[in-house]
Amino acid sequence: MSDPICLFCRIIRRELPATVVYEDDEVLAFQDIAPKAPVHLLIVPKRHVEGLQALEDGDAGLIGSLFACLTRLARERGVARSGYRAVVNAGADGGQSVLHLHLHLLGGRPMDWPPG
Ligand code: AMP
Repeated sequence: MSDPICLFCRIIRRELPATVVYEDDEVLAFQDIAPKAPVHLLIVPKRHVEGLQALEDGDAGLIGSLFACLTRLARERGVARSGYRAVVNAGADGGQSVLHLHLHLLGGRPMDWPPG
């Protein structure tokens, strides 16, 4: 289901511009508008899901599709060998600012640990 006011649902419906790098029936991937690394892509389900915190047992397939997309994009963008970070911020303490589930694919530079 789509949410009329959700930012990422509006990108999925092409009501807002984005640099889309992958699309299928279930998943859309696009460039982050404020990249935190040379490679910074967002992988989102087309169905509106608020975040990891809203997933249910039946969503295991969807999670698989999102991570399959992320690993494929990491290879395509040339960061699979050098390494990369896959991040999902969940809820307020997790630092989630857009309430539509999204995987961040960050790569092209060494990452610090622990995250802030
Ligand atoms: P999070 O803080 O985990 O919810 O991540 C939200 C991400 O969405 C941030 O990295 C933002 O830079 C990114 N973002 C916000 N608005 C847009 C947009 N219109 N197009 C692409 N990325 C966006």
